[in-house]
Amino acid sequence: MNKKKRINLLSGLKEFEIEFLENEEMSAYSSIKIGGLTDLIIFPKNETELISVINLLKANLCGYYIIGRGTNTLFKAARIYLPVISFKKFDSSLSENKKNGSEIVLEAGAGIPLSKILNYAIKNNMGGCEFFYGIPGTAGGAVRMNAGSKESVIGNIIYAVEIITDKGVKYIIGNNDLKFSYRSLEIGGIKCDYFITKVYLKLYGSSASKIKENIEVFKKRKLSQPLGEFSLGCIFKNPSGVSAGKVIEEIGFKGFSIGGVSVSEKHANFIVNKGGAKPDDIVSLIKNIQEKALSHRGIKLNTEIKII
Ligand SMILES: Cc1cc2nc3c(=O)[nH]c(=O)nc-3n(C[C@H](O)[C@H](O)[C@H](O)COP(=O)(O)OP(=O)(O)OC[C@H]3O[C@@H](n4cnc5c(N)ncnc54)[C@H](O)[C@@H]3O)c2cc1C
Repeated sequence: MNKKKRINLLSGLKEFEIEFLENEEMSAYSSIKIGGLTDLIIFPKNETELISVINLLKANLCGYYIIGRGTNTLFKAARIYLPVISFKKFDSSLSENKKNGSEIVLEAGAGIPLSKILNYAIKNNMGGCEFFYGIPGTAGGAVRMNAGSKESVIGNIIYAVEIITDKGVKYIIGNNDLKFSYRSLEIGGIKCDYFITKVYLKLYGSSASKIKENIEVFKKRKLSQPLGEFSLGCIFKNPSGVSAGKVIEEIGFKGFSIGGVSVSEKHANFIVNKGGAKPDDIVSLIKNIQEKALSHRGIKLNTEIKII
């Protein structure tokens, strides 16, 4: 971002009283606690503020990055020059929108963590989102990534989403136009970039005992993941018919370290920050794993995480 754009942008943010920080360590905004410095990170709290931010970016012909809670995002650049739009402080409201028989539509602000939605569902006897257990992102990030597990993904329980495009136009998109696939979402008819602002979830009336029983499967699964350590969840997508973790284990990387990062001893598709890790450490480890998976097993491992 050149000096003139930066001055215009900052004065606009001040005028609209939108929270921002300059020269922030991005390690604080990624769950693996690795990252360089960003020139500018902006925290819109609601739709009105987000539209003002979009208009300011548009007026200054400025690109940007979007993040939720950074639980699937690696900031590898030593310096991030484009503004980062964070959903950490964005609307995290939750309300019951409508009921059809036993079906309940729960309306969630895109900034709310999945754990809060799950807790609300448990308290109010709503089933359908038990697989949120142990997934640490925001509702918006989860929809963008079609987060979930082999039992279910968020795309299966979406009724609709609200988005604001990079032109500042708002749309409500029903599930017929949402094309969810493995850790990915495409929206029919939307060719430009967009910000997810609201998520409507289809849940159903259940009982506390049934919900607890359903959650047990996910609780047990999470015991095999290094949840107490700094990570980004699974680094690689599973290639068809085989688990990426198994491939990584078979080519001898379990426990292998470069600098401050290691392949987890608990789950080989997790890379953990053992302390003081640098972006280059994880980038090298990912590259080493990909090269050996290809040369020894003929398998191309694609990253699931987003890299900035
Ligand atoms: C310990 C651990 C366990 C995990 N377990 C799982 C698991 O079981 N299953 C699973 O699927 N994932 C898992 N993850 C990965 C991660 O939690 C999910 O992908 C989560 O949905 C990402 O949400 P986020 O808000 O952190 O997104 P971020 O990492 O901040 O962003 C991810 C992507 O979404 C985009 N994005 C974020 N918010 C918005 C928005 N409002 N509008 C438009 N785009 C947006 C970003 O631009 C980026 O491309 C795990 C991660 C960790 C650290």
